[in-house]
Amino acid sequence: MLMQSIGPVPFVDLSIQWDQIGAEVMPDLEKLFQASAFCLGPWAVAFEKQVAEYLGVKHAIAVSSGSAALHVATIAAGIKRGDKVLVPAHTFIGTIWGLIYEGAIPVFCDVEEATGNIDLTDAERRIEDGVKAIIPVHLYGQPVDVAGVLAFAERHELTVIEDCAQAIGARFQGRSLGTFGSMGCFSFYPGKNLGGAGEGGLVITNDDEKAKVLRSLREHGQGPQRYVHERIGYNYRMDGIQALVLGHKLKRLDTWTDQRRAIAARYAEALADTPLRLPAVVHGDHVHHLYVVRADDRDALKAFLEEHGVSTGLHYPMPLYKQPCLEGIASPSPEGYPVTEDWAGNGLSLPMFAGMTTPQQDRVIDAIHAYFEQVKP
Ligand SMILES: *Cc1c(COP(=O)(O)O)cnc(C)c1O
Repeated sequence: MLMQSIGPVPFVDLSIQWDQIGAEVMPDLEKLFQASAFCLGPWAVAFEKQVAEYLGVKHAIAVSSGSAALHVATIAAGIKRGDKVLVPAHTFIGTIWGLIYEGAIPVFCDVEEATGNIDLTDAERRIEDGVKAIIPVHLYGQPVDVAGVLAFAERHELTVIEDCAQAIGARFQGRSLGTFGSMGCFSFYPGKNLGGAGEGGLVITNDDEKAKVLRSLREHGQGPQRYVHERIGYNYRMDGIQALVLGHKLKRLDTWTDQRRAIAARYAEALADTPLRLPAVVHGDHVHHLYVVRADDRDALKAFLEEHGVSTGLHYPMPLYKQPCLEGIASPSPEGYPVTEDWAGNGLSLPMFAGMTTPQQDRVIDAIHAYFEQVKP
């Protein structure tokens, strides 16, 4: 049977990317080691230039992770202890670490039924005294309602920090995500659409003053003069090795994104006749970092797929307001978060990665059909 002949389908397979870049990365790595350019250095400078051009932004500041990017952006935005910040309740916790570190308070908002992105109608209800900023997350690779967020932020005089960790390469009306807010933050965690050979992150901005502050914050609060520390800083520098690898991968990102889009289109077509609720593409273009379907019997479906050699993921099973570490920090909400509960309880991420083959995808699709055959009354 075909299903058996291709082997189990992993949730993600990054070795395919290495197969494509390995031969050109290795001699470059040799040069990097010869130059001992380990922390920032010429490869980081080159990558910052390359990624700034790719995104169409004035300043790109390479840092050590997406969480570090969001942390320095929070500080550069002037968010202080006790300030409140609107964030979606349904996201990875990295979205809010920066504001937690600064003593700011996340105000969780419910998300849209169709996209899982922040619901501005709900955000409107949660506006209160002390709200200074909003962090919209372009979750799963789909732009938020960018025009809506900008109008909302202007109306309430809020700073916008975009969490683009899952959405590099996505555009809204032709412009890259991350260029709409005051700052945009990216993650190069290996599994992201553009991933390093370790941790990495990026902040982008068109604001010269903020760029200076961000560069200083990532490097011990140093100013133009070495060993003169103008502010409390951090060691958030990007490794040279990451910058080198990311530079090679960035050249292929659009090709890889096209592959993700083709896989998503094929899932949409092949799974349309199942009871699954499939991802909707609503705002702008979607780079399909994750392909998240919703199923009422999610856990049973997940177990069935696992048994049939298909690995899946959960993004994210526990909403932020339920996280044990946030007890006593986040504002309680009597209104609740019904849509977040739906995504958290019923969402299932199917295998999705650049280079996934048609037989691999067929195996996922066949296994899902087999599941629904089997549960038929
Ligand atoms: C990955 C991710 C982050 C954090 O990035 P790291 O590089 O893992 O620190 C933040 N927000 C979202 C939505 C993410 O997916």
